[in-house]
Amino acid sequence: MTPVIEIIATFAVIAALTALAITLYRNRGTRKQSEAEVNAWKLRLEQDLQKAKEERHNLLDALGDAFLLVDSAANIQFANEAARSLFGARELVNRPIRETLLDPRLAEALLRCLETGEPVQSRVVLPQQTSLRGDQENRGVNAWIIDAAQLANPSDGNSITRVIIRDVTAEHQIEQVRKDFVANASHELRTPLAIINGYLENLLDDDMLTEPNVARHFLTIMRKHADRISHIVEDMLVISRLESGEANTLKIEPFRFRSCIKDVIERLESVIRTQNADVVVIMKNPELIVKGDRFYWTQVLFNLVENALKQNPHPDLRIEIGCENDDDSTHIWVTDNGVGIPSADLTHIFRRFFRVEKHHSQQEIKGTGLGLSIVKRAVEAHGGTIQVSSTPGSETKFSIKLPLTPN
Ligand code: ADP
Repeated sequence: MTPVIEIIATFAVIAALTALAITLYRNRGTRKQSEAEVNAWKLRLEQDLQKAKEERHNLLDALGDAFLLVDSAANIQFANEAARSLFGARELVNRPIRETLLDPRLAEALLRCLETGEPVQSRVVLPQQTSLRGDQENRGVNAWIIDAAQLANPSDGNSITRVIIRDVTAEHQIEQVRKDFVANASHELRTPLAIINGYLENLLDDDMLTEPNVARHFLTIMRKHADRISHIVEDMLVISRLESGEANTLKIEPFRFRSCIKDVIERLESVIRTQNADVVVIMKNPELIVKGDRFYWTQVLFNLVENALKQNPHPDLRIEIGCENDDDSTHIWVTDNGVGIPSADLTHIFRRFFRVEKHHSQQEIKGTGLGLSIVKRAVEAHGGTIQVSSTPGSETKFSIKLPLTPN
């Protein structure tokens, strides 16, 4: 090889090596760059996943119902805020469901779903003083709906079950009150109906129509009981209207309260006179104006004053009707110095059909047992409150507080 060729060959090798070195260097840069890119993607993906997870948790936390995710081994994997507060401050995640829902009636529905894979919806009513955690808790009757269903049916057998626990205690109580109302109303209506039927049978089967005096006597009794039935039905309708919460139930207008008192005294005048009762009106401002539905306020006062008269047919009865305003409310009261209400009965006095039986010296029940329920509902429909205190034989006082601007 000639020296020239040798030099050229050396240069060619150097050039090739340099090109290789440059290529290798470049590739190393590219590899580094793609590694950095992959890492950046990874990070972004993780961040996105974390964000999505947080958003999902926030959404589930916003649910009013308790929500749990439970794995196939019956361990809790997720609990939303409602669930956490339902079970107290205890840690729920990674804990077995059997340990968390101590009451077997609650756990049973959920475990059935885990075992069978079938969706389960079950309503659980627990007796007083039992909470979800099985602790002693004074919450009255508690009712829950447990709704459990598997989210998917994966081949690896590691299924997730979602559980919704809805507290339906309030609905349950309303339902119970309705049931009681229907039962009580039927009971109250059955008695006068049975009496009317009895007299009708006598009149027809025993052919009493031929004896006008007896027939008249029977018919008079029947009319009294028919009146009672229509009284009960009317009272029930008033309660139902007040409870419906419909905006047009009340016609709110300003009226002079004194005129309302006057109407009530006039309507009860013959009873007041017969019983020789002393009815006193206390109003510092006789022109005092109340904003409300005059019809219902007359009924409220009528029921309270009529009760005071009805429960105390003895002489020396003094009834006081009062009304005055302070800065933010109107205070209305009715007091009497009659037999009063035993303290044990005071908390039940506004319940529908409640009566203090002991005081029924009369042979037959005169009222419907709905009078005070109407009073309470009418007062509350105006945004007011009513309280009762009683020292039997001394003073029984019904006090109403009504905001100056009603709802
Ligand atoms: P009723 O139609 O029987 O009067 P209410 O709801 O008006 O029904 O009253 C319920 C019960 O409360 C009455 O049966 C009575 O036992 C008691 N009560 C109400 N007001 C008085 C009062 N002023 N004095 C004594 N007992 C009262």
